[in-house]
Amino acid sequence: MHIFPQTPNCSKFSPIHCLAALSVAIYLITLHTACGGIKETARNKQPTIDDYNFAVHYDIDNNKATDSVSYEELPAIEVLPTIYQPALTQTHDIKHTKLDLRFDWQKKHLIGKAILTLQPHFYTSDKVNIDAKGFDIHSIALLSKDKANMPLKYNYNDSLVLEINLDRPYKRDETYQIAISYTAQPERLIKHHTGRFHYDNKGLYFIMPDSLNPNKPYQIWTQGETYGASCWFPTIDAPNQKTSEEITITVENKYQTLSNGKLISSTNNPDGTRSDYWKQELPHSPYLFVVAIGEYAVYKDKWRDKEVNYYVEPKYAASAKAIFGNTPDMLTFFSERLGVDFPWDKYSQAVVRDFVAGAMENTSATLFYEQLQRDERELLEGNDDDIIAHELFHHWFGDLVTCESWANLALNESFATYGEYLWIDHKYGRDAADAHLSQDLRAYLNEAEEKKEPIIRYYYSNADDDLFDAHSYQKGGRVLHMLRNHVGDDAFFTAVTQYLKAHAFKTAEVNDLRMTFESVTGEDLNWFFDQWMLTKGHPELDIAYSVDTANLRATVIVQQTQAQDKVFILPTQVEIVYPDGSKERQNIRISKRNQTFTLPIKKTPKLLNFDPEKILLCTRTEHKGTQGYIDQYYHYNNYNDRWEALQALGKLNDTDNNDLQKLLLHAATNDPYYALRKEAIDILDSQTIASEKTLQTQIIAIARTDAHPLVREAALARLDKSNTPEVIAAFAHAMRDSSYQVIYTALQGLFTLAPEKAVYYAQMSENTDNPTLINAIAHIYSQAGTSKNQAFFEQHLPKTYTYNRYAMIEFYSKFLQRCNDNETTFNSLKTLQSIAQNDSNWWIRLRAAEAIRDMRTQYVARQLSESRATAAIHNTTNTPKMSAEEQLDFIDKAIDTLKKRETNQQVLSIYNSFN
Ligand SMILES: [Zn+2]
Repeated sequence: MHIFPQTPNCSKFSPIHCLAALSVAIYLITLHTACGGIKETARNKQPTIDDYNFAVHYDIDNNKATDSVSYEELPAIEVLPTIYQPALTQTHDIKHTKLDLRFDWQKKHLIGKAILTLQPHFYTSDKVNIDAKGFDIHSIALLSKDKANMPLKYNYNDSLVLEINLDRPYKRDETYQIAISYTAQPERLIKHHTGRFHYDNKGLYFIMPDSLNPNKPYQIWTQGETYGASCWFPTIDAPNQKTSEEITITVENKYQTLSNGKLISSTNNPDGTRSDYWKQELPHSPYLFVVAIGEYAVYKDKWRDKEVNYYVEPKYAASAKAIFGNTPDMLTFFSERLGVDFPWDKYSQAVVRDFVAGAMENTSATLFYEQLQRDERELLEGNDDDIIAHELFHHWFGDLVTCESWANLALNESFATYGEYLWIDHKYGRDAADAHLSQDLRAYLNEAEEKKEPIIRYYYSNADDDLFDAHSYQKGGRVLHMLRNHVGDDAFFTAVTQYLKAHAFKTAEVNDLRMTFESVTGEDLNWFFDQWMLTKGHPELDIAYSVDTANLRATVIVQQTQAQDKVFILPTQVEIVYPDGSKERQNIRISKRNQTFTLPIKKTPKLLNFDPEKILLCTRTEHKGTQGYIDQYYHYNNYNDRWEALQALGKLNDTDNNDLQKLLLHAATNDPYYALRKEAIDILDSQTIASEKTLQTQIIAIARTDAHPLVREAALARLDKSNTPEVIAAFAHAMRDSSYQVIYTALQGLFTLAPEKAVYYAQMSENTDNPTLINAIAHIYSQAGTSKNQAFFEQHLPKTYTYNRYAMIEFYSKFLQRCNDNETTFNSLKTLQSIAQNDSNWWIRLRAAEAIRDMRTQYVARQLSESRATAAIHNTTNTPKMSAEEQLDFIDKAIDTLKKRETNQQVLSIYNSFN
């Protein structure tokens, strides 16, 4: 799956990919443009570890609040030890799964009938264990020709596993069928299940309007990975099971349904419901089963003779093609590149509300979180091709060839992450692809500051919490890129094709991948797989150069400075660049902690470039100085070299250097890749721009004319110290920009230079539906609002979601502190409390709860005892009059209620420190 969008320090505005929470939690939110663009958007900042002071990294998507269940005692936090986690021992194999499903929206129940066709794996057996979490079991019977519906005895004491006694021992060449009639009750799971089955993973989700969001659509959807499938149907819930399936879904006629495989028939029932019958004959793992139900607009596209459908909410019908429209081209590209055609019956993509991750690659029916739904104007800043490509690539790596156990999850996720790179390279070119890969490296290095793990992890505590991270995803993708570079394109894709064909509709573990590569290349690759996949850490390199002109020799001194004892083996190249522009590359192989390489040269070189394609997964310290990096920018064509030069120059902060200023302006105006134009602008100093009229004029021109909105925005952001009529005019002009992002920054710039104008524009724009613009206005009011602007927050906050909601709470909290009166503050309690109780994302619940905590702190700071005599005021909730003391009492009760209802133990531990 794709975890929520995550980003490294540097930037991009967008979301995540498949499940697991990518550290989403962790970094900035970024908008990840299709072309790999990266854009820092501070307003979308997500909670960081520093914010909360504990490691909450990867479980963002696993938290679902519930508003329909009350809780008594919450258990203490269960700290699970890190242990060896083997693949499930296969005693029985599920050959086929047939389900008949109905739903009780009111109770949030699934009423199901399952017929499982099973077979002993090898050993004769008269017992079978079936995972079924939190079910009410109505009957279990054996189906056979001679003994139709023979009831079977079973034990279900833990409400997790059905231990079923068969009527007799079965041999490995015998199949048998079990019929299970049950009611799945996902809300029970939140209360009852802890431990290695994730606390918040309930598998089946009912979405419906609530008091906070009365316009929320009715939807039902499922999430299987990692152990959620058995929350809604009985199965052997492990990735090393593969089963064909049939699912009949009965719903009210107004709903569309989506599941795996083909829609074979739709039958209207006498009671006004409709039964859709879906069937997939190709076997896949239970965690890839899916049901999605909702009122959708469906855009029908096509690839070869297969259906390609895009399910969006009706409001986004017009932009469905703009959001997903590259899918058929991706199907062609991946099928050809991998040498294996897309194997499944169809490919549908659906957007669901309150999803637990960025997206999930359910076989032939991928689900995405709602942030993918954008109109064409909103798509100007970049599309979501990366996440779309990631999920599609999983249909080979994950769905066709499945990791044998979650320890080998990286075989799914590393490839899916690398699929993003392959698509971006194919569609948007080398700069965009390099930028994407560079971001992946930074995401991993960022995470590596907190933890270092082997990519393939047999030892872990909880799969959901531990494995869906920047190691399994970004580091894994970079390792595959190194492997490709080491063996060459032909060998890489030959091996990948062989691996896919050998393990199609089966499972694989990392040794299968290694042995395929060894078979193709003839090389023993244990060193590579051990070093990069089975061992933690990465090399930290210090690189120094010298040139002996007299003897025509260049020297490269490489030191591995990482703290561990480990020494990495690193085959790479050094590129020698001569003054006439000619270049040559020489191979080196690093295998020691300190190593000196002497290279023959033809004449005195202009530059020496270590690892010129920037393939190695490492940190590098080089000693080049300002001029060295200026030369590097001008003389190298590679994105990474240009980016690295700009980064280094930014850090050197050599602002008096005229050559540097010239380079920055040159890059800001002329670099072919927008993210580097933006990077150069970001390095320019606002104060310098304010004091140099010519420079200011050039920046204004960029702000008005650059083709990319994120460059225009960066230019505007650099004008915030230039209080001239021309700059004010540029900001005003930008208020009509096609990009909301640009308008956001223009509003902020105006606020700095001419606040009354910014407030005017904010008020004029209040009726927008665009979340970026809503946040822009909220940002202004958080700095200059008065209590009369509270209505804006109360109106829009319930309609926002995920990152935008997080940002809006942030602004609201600042706004309330700014107003600094009990009445305004107290009027926000109901909305904040509702979010803190009901939002599906723990980090949003937490932020809302923190806003309430801050409210309480304010009350106390206002010296309650003094105000007690005078403050008898109205509040919004009907209570006629309440003293400040009574209001404080209300707030305390609200916090107590949050503590009682919160299901995420880490969040709860923070609440317990509130007062
Ligand atoms: Zn994924």
